[in-house]
Amino acid sequence: MEKFIKKQKTLSTKDKFTITPNFKTPFISPENIIHIGEIAQKYNGVLKIGTNQKISIINIDEINLQRVIDDLNFDCVPKGKNLLTNITVCTSNFCRMSKYPTIGIYMKIVNEFYGIELPSKTKIAISSCKNSCVSAYVKDIGILADSNGKLFITVGGCAGTNPKSGYVLASDLDEKSTYKLFKSVINYYQSNANSKEKLRDFIDRLGFENFKSNL
Ligand code: SF4
Repeated sequence: MEKFIKKQKTLSTKDKFTITPNFKTPFISPENIIHIGEIAQKYNGVLKIGTNQKISIINIDEINLQRVIDDLNFDCVPKGKNLLTNITVCTSNFCRMSKYPTIGIYMKIVNEFYGIELPSKTKIAISSCKNSCVSAYVKDIGILADSNGKLFITVGGCAGTNPKSGYVLASDLDEKSTYKLFKSVINYYQSNANSKEKLRDFIDRLGFENFKSNL
C-alpha cells in the first residue's frame, strides 16, 4: 500500500495524504469519474487535477488510506521522485487541429516505460500539432506532429524557474522511427547520466551534437 501513498505538504499541522488512480489512458469514462468522486466524498477527500493529467484524491486521513485503496480497486500511480509517471498527450485524435493521431504512440510509450526509474524527474508530452497544448517544447522529451503530418522530437526542454525550449533532435519522422529514437534517448539517459542530473543538464554537459551522435 505504501508505494501508492503520498504525504501532502500542507500548512496544516494535521497529516493528510494523496492517492492517485492510474487509468493509463488520457480518457476516463463517466463511470470511473463517478466512482472516484463517490470515494472522495465518502472519505472527505478533495479531487485535484494535476499537470500529469491524473485526478488525485487529496486530503485523505491516515486512518482511511487502506479503505480508499480497497474501494478504488484500481492500479494507482506509484510514488517516487524519479519514476517516470508524467506522460501527457493532447486531445489528439479528437481535435480538429490534429495533424497526426498520436494516441497510438502515447499508449506504446505508457505501456513500455511508465514507472521506470530515471536519473532525475522527467516529463514527457505528446502533441498532435505544433500548437502544443501540453507544452511539449518545455518538457524533457516532446513528441509533436508537424504541419506535414510527420513527427518530430525535442529533448531537454524544461519549465520552472529557468525555462528553456527543448532542442529539436530529429524531424520528418514516421511513428516507428519516432518510437525507436525516443527509446534510444530514454535508454541512453538512464544508463549514462549522473544521479539527479536533468536531461537538459546531461545534454549540455555532453554537447548536443555529441549527445545526438551517441544515440
Ligand atoms: S496540440 Fe493541436 S491537436 Fe493537440 S489539442 Fe492542441 S490544438 Fe488540438
